[in-house]
Amino acid sequence: MSTAVREVSVFGDAIQYFNEAAANLEIEEGMRRILTHPSRQVIVSIPFQRDNGEIEVYTGYRVQYNFTRGPAKGGIRYHPGVTLDEVTALAFWMTWKCATVDIPFGGGKGGVTCDPNVLSLGELERITRRYAAELVEIVGPDKDVPAPDVGTNPQTMAWFMDTYSMHVRQSMPGVVTGKPLEIGGSRGRVEATGRGVMLVTAAQLATEKRTLKGQRIVVQGFGNVGSVAAMLLQEHGATIVGISDVTGGYHNEKGIDVKSAIAYAQEHHSLDGFRGGERISNAQTLELPCDILVPAALEKQLTGENAARVQARLVVEGANGPTTPEADHVLHSRGITVVPDILANAGGVTVSYFEWAQDRMGYFWKESEVNERLKDILEHNFEAIHSMSKARNVTLRTAAYMTAIDRVVKSLKIRGVYA
Ligand code: NAD
Repeated sequence: MSTAVREVSVFGDAIQYFNEAAANLEIEEGMRRILTHPSRQVIVSIPFQRDNGEIEVYTGYRVQYNFTRGPAKGGIRYHPGVTLDEVTALAFWMTWKCATVDIPFGGGKGGVTCDPNVLSLGELERITRRYAAELVEIVGPDKDVPAPDVGTNPQTMAWFMDTYSMHVRQSMPGVVTGKPLEIGGSRGRVEATGRGVMLVTAAQLATEKRTLKGQRIVVQGFGNVGSVAAMLLQEHGATIVGISDVTGGYHNEKGIDVKSAIAYAQEHHSLDGFRGGERISNAQTLELPCDILVPAALEKQLTGENAARVQARLVVEGANGPTTPEADHVLHSRGITVVPDILANAGGVTVSYFEWAQDRMGYFWKESEVNERLKDILEHNFEAIHSMSKARNVTLRTAAYMTAIDRVVKSLKIRGVYA
């Protein structure tokens, strides 16, 4: 099927970014065809027992987009909006993200269409174990390595790892990353994506002869990525003037105390009722006056409709796919720089790679070592992508895709096409 006939969807949008970048590379049509199709899409039914004894059936997905450079790699999302289309787009982005930071993985992603906020811990455990059991044959340290994403966390990974280990009759910590430290997790993994957002923001500012000090930043989404990014950006001298989560936004020109916002969100399971800033809507959060906007919630937040009202001069994509192609063009035409998701939020998968390597060695690193290696990989690849964007006169997004596509195509050519 030609990519041109795909309906406008999350995956359809994602493909547009690929096509824009591929147009700058000399790629044979056959390669292009391979890379615009997922290798494998799996849909499973997940029967599970509610606490009241009733049996329900949820739907789960795992998409293994590409294996050229290594096992599939990518998170598992628990959210009511999860669809095959969304999971495919996320797996597609993982392929380019892993190649952008040059780690030996392909791309994958999974999800279960559910609302984790209304499920008990027991129900979440049963769903996770059944989902893991359904995927036993296709995941594994050399096949496909899941990790946390929206709505999942280290505990989810522990249940997944335990279920898989029970089925294969041996302890297999390397089947997932983002695990608790006690069972083979890596130091620094929980903070890695937010830390990466901070590092690439600082790297971009350095190209403008600026530092984080005094930058006024708005962060959308206050989960694993957004809250850690906000905290580290603040620690490095930035002022966080706006934050938000699914319940709404909070604006404070003098700066939000991120630590107290995190403590509040932990205690109340959301920011709802937080008093550290004036209450605003989610839409207003994205349009606040600021220097830097960090969308770190979900995809399609900056659109053709609201991009003209963004007041930041730099957008750093903490989330996957927060900017539609239409919005991307509007931001570009307005001179707003966008540091793309496949680079900006690659800190998480980079430390996942470290975790996978540590699990395989059975030898664990100090946190300072993890953070140093993360900084090294992100800064090195940022620099290469930034230079390419200057040399080829393309956006950072196009330069990141070009770098990633080139790496995957080279590997694919060396392996050859088994056709
Ligand atoms: P999370 O579940 O920990 O947090 C998501 C946050 O977004 C929550 O605070 C939620 O309330 C908020 N949110 C949801 N809808 C919103 C809306 N409409 N407006 C404002 N806030 C909203 O998830 P996460 O792990 O922080 O992931 C966030 C994004 O980052 C996702 O796009 C994810 O794919 C991406 N990402 C995550 C990782 C990781 O390591 N966790 C790595 C790379 C990319």
